[in-house]
Amino acid sequence: MDPQDRPPRIFLSPPHIGEREQIYVREAFDTNWIAPLGPHVEAFEQELAAYAGCAGAAALSSGTAAIHLALRLAGVGPGDDVFVSSLTFVASVNPILYQGANPVLIDSDEESWNLSVPALKRAFADAEQAGRLPKAVVVVNLYGQSADMDPILELCDAYGVPVIEDAAESLGATYKGRQSGTLGAYGIYSFNGNKIITTSGGGMLVSNDAVALERARHWATQAREPAAHYEHTQIGYNYRLSNVLAGVGRGQLQVLEERVAARRAVFARYEQALGGIPGIRFMPEASYGRSTRWLTALTVNPAEAGVTSAQLIAALAEANIESRPVWKPMHRQPLLEVYRYYPHDKGDSVSDRLFEQGMCLPSGSSLSEHDQDRVIACLLATIQGWRYRHESA
Ligand SMILES: *Cc1c(COP(=O)(O)O)cnc(C)c1O
Repeated sequence: MDPQDRPPRIFLSPPHIGEREQIYVREAFDTNWIAPLGPHVEAFEQELAAYAGCAGAAALSSGTAAIHLALRLAGVGPGDDVFVSSLTFVASVNPILYQGANPVLIDSDEESWNLSVPALKRAFADAEQAGRLPKAVVVVNLYGQSADMDPILELCDAYGVPVIEDAAESLGATYKGRQSGTLGAYGIYSFNGNKIITTSGGGMLVSNDAVALERARHWATQAREPAAHYEHTQIGYNYRLSNVLAGVGRGQLQVLEERVAARRAVFARYEQALGGIPGIRFMPEASYGRSTRWLTALTVNPAEAGVTSAQLIAALAEANIESRPVWKPMHRQPLLEVYRYYPHDKGDSVSDRLFEQGMCLPSGSSLSEHDQDRVIACLLATIQGWRYRHESA
């Protein structure tokens, strides 16, 4: 095809910016309050904490930085173990390595695609027997849905181990009426460009522990002691969010509920169009809360659907539509293959199956019905084309 004849690109999860953002950014420019900190940063922290229903928040340069600081607050250091979901983006695990600690990778369950309680139980039992409990458990809330936090917190509380919620993908989701990311000792959000709201890049650490948040802000500003000559007693980082980007975040936060509704509507249309196809199964929405459907994720069973998820991804790419496999589990990453892994059941790894059969469809809150119809038509044509060839052969 002539490149000029190609239909316009449809992205997986592009930024969706409104009008309020520009007002706040202009205010930052007009007052020459560009960097590093400023009134938008504090306001963004307060507004996000109010939305999430927690005591406070620290605005940071990324979600990864927020996880790093949460680990340090939990006392994670060299040689320690940290339990973490295996089915996730590498940013959940990299900060564990920054601290010189060892990730112990935990599988998912079928119902939520999130942390498997049976696997967590076995990991804790082994750790207790070995006399080396983890310093923290990082629970990931995948694709807009909370993990089943009650049994997870019960287990972690019983062992006295703090929970860090990686809610980078689940801002706006709920668990039994509470905001995802606020159930553990620390929670983190991301405002990377592909997330449900964005500051182009940024993150937030939330907690009910105001003293811990103050320490995190201190570490995030190079751990400068209040002296004119800058006195330093601890290692610090340059992890704060700029005032300009916090202005973008304030505008985005005001439309978060609309963005959640739009992503859920995108999901509902996909489900209506494709849900009846044999072998296609959408990520379930657990009964304990609201998923934002940040990304519409599904599995394709090739024995029933006649095609693989990889074939569908390739067909969409051919039509200039971006889609992606489900995250490749961390226990299968060359970087992390030396670390221990606990599958859901002995000999049954759920995350492996989700990776092999799973894919994510374009899910942006600005996705038009026309563009979504293009995605659906391409998927239907690929599935039906296979059936036709198969049945006439
Ligand atoms: C995006 C993401 C992060 C990292 O957030 P950044 O702001 O990009 O550093 C961490 N965990 C998960 C699960 C993510 O999807």
